[in-house]
Amino acid sequence: MTLLKAIANRSLLQGNLVGTFRSFSSTPRALIPTYKVAIIGTGPAGFYTGYHLLNKSPKDKFKVQLDFFDRLPSPYGLSRYGVAPDHPEVKNCEDYLNDIMNNDENKDHVRYFGNVNVGVDIGIKDLQDCYHSIVLAYGCVNADNKLDVPGNDLPGVLSARQFVNWYNGHPDFYDKTNPFTPPELEKIEDVTIIGNGNVALDVARILLADPNDHWASTDISSEALNILKTSSVKNVNIVARRGLLESAFTNKEIRELLELNNSKKVKFIPIDPEIYDAITPYLDKLGRVDKRRLSVLEKYAKNFDNNDINKVKTWSLKYLLSPKEFIVSNDNPNLLRETVFTKNKLIHDNLTNESKVVPDNDANPITLKNELVVLSIGYKGSPLNDFHYNDIKMNDYNDRILNKDGRVLSSTSAGETLHDIVYKKGFYTAGWIKKGPKGVIASTMMESFDTADKIIEDLDNKDYTSDSKKIDIIDKLTNVPYVSWDNWLKLDQYELEIGKSLNKSRDKVCDSDQMIKIACK
Ligand code: NAP
Repeated sequence: MTLLKAIANRSLLQGNLVGTFRSFSSTPRALIPTYKVAIIGTGPAGFYTGYHLLNKSPKDKFKVQLDFFDRLPSPYGLSRYGVAPDHPEVKNCEDYLNDIMNNDENKDHVRYFGNVNVGVDIGIKDLQDCYHSIVLAYGCVNADNKLDVPGNDLPGVLSARQFVNWYNGHPDFYDKTNPFTPPELEKIEDVTIIGNGNVALDVARILLADPNDHWASTDISSEALNILKTSSVKNVNIVARRGLLESAFTNKEIRELLELNNSKKVKFIPIDPEIYDAITPYLDKLGRVDKRRLSVLEKYAKNFDNNDINKVKTWSLKYLLSPKEFIVSNDNPNLLRETVFTKNKLIHDNLTNESKVVPDNDANPITLKNELVVLSIGYKGSPLNDFHYNDIKMNDYNDRILNKDGRVLSSTSAGETLHDIVYKKGFYTAGWIKKGPKGVIASTMMESFDTADKIIEDLDNKDYTSDSKKIDIIDKLTNVPYVSWDNWLKLDQYELEIGKSLNKSRDKVCDSDQMIKIACK
């Protein structure tokens, strides 16, 4: 049993105990109302919210009828299209949705509607007509943070979101009418990744690990695998604007990248000693996690031999650099020649004991040769099409829906502070679109359970969109070729079988028309 499941089961057990006490004052069976709930998005935030809702609702007080919606024909959202192909253990979270959908006891009150784009195929108003509670859990996966730097829009500057979605086989990147052009990896030797969060490390692993030994057996898209096999990438620089101690990656993920050294085909180039000098005064005050990070980096730096550079792929962590300009290649407009960076320096604030970076105006800019830049500087949220007409809006940074602890606020609210709050009755949010695009799947689970608790509390108080919900959403989907759970199982089976024949864990169908054809035949 995974740790996540153990935690969830413990809270389920607690829920059952509470249910036993509640049964003393139970409502007569015939009078128990049924509340209809829609969850938009079937990534981890959506299915964890649904799981908790089904398991923790007081069954002696009300029943929950649950419909899941996804814009894509396939479920699982970020788990299927964001998690790296070599992290199958992380994708085990999908079992939460499988357990709900494949449980015969849920057959009469839980449904899946894939290939339904809320805001396009059906509106928020339609949902409001049909459901007591609506959960917006559609993630921060359609937009990226941007840099305001000359050359930012060149084809040789790619966002990590695009690259990740492409190698994970996301249908938006295999659209016949608007196909994504993958980078010409067979012409590229040097890649710069800007930002050093865990997404940056995933991208580096894709570029550095051996396609045959490391990726061929995973569920990576077949197109991406074939292109990686032709790759001539020799060196990857992961560049951060702040210092080593401010690195955004976590220790487990940096160790995984360092362990590529064990293949003898990849080498980590030690961090510039100047970067260590900048942190020397603070070494005594470091916590356990920072000490561990330094020791693992030191361990792998020790093995470095300059003579190896030409024989293996190399990578490095660079710090205190902000991109100033991306410069296009002289002979290929799809590639870059180099990136120019300004240097930063760390200023320590003794009062807060925190360091911040400022431009080092005395230092000369530095240039890194690269044919490709991947911007891994964070994702952004985006509103659904008809938010504007339905009194829902994003916060000022466009990274989450205006909400308080998962309850969506009316756009007339002044903000998310305690003053001037007006709730949008019956609307909730979970996951990255609730909190912003940060956090691992375990933290999304806890956040989603919190949202589910709020829904239960409100339903218990008869606090929902409105009373009577006689219309079934199916009546509004007559012209939408939605994918049911049984349809998805056919596609799932197909992908597993083709995968098996190719010695891959799964071979994803990437074209959405073909996905629907296979699912619905
Ligand atoms: P992240 O961890 O927030 O990292 C973003 C990086 O972009 C940081 O290095 C940040 O630098 C940099 N950045 C932001 N704006 C910038 C700018 N204007 N100029 C230069 N650099 C800039 O985000 P992420 O890597 O996209 O990951 C999102 C979440 O998913 C994270 O919580 C991550 O841990 C999680 N995730 C987990 C895994 C895993 O567990 N294996 C895998 C992938 C993702 P500053 O720090 O200086 O702001």
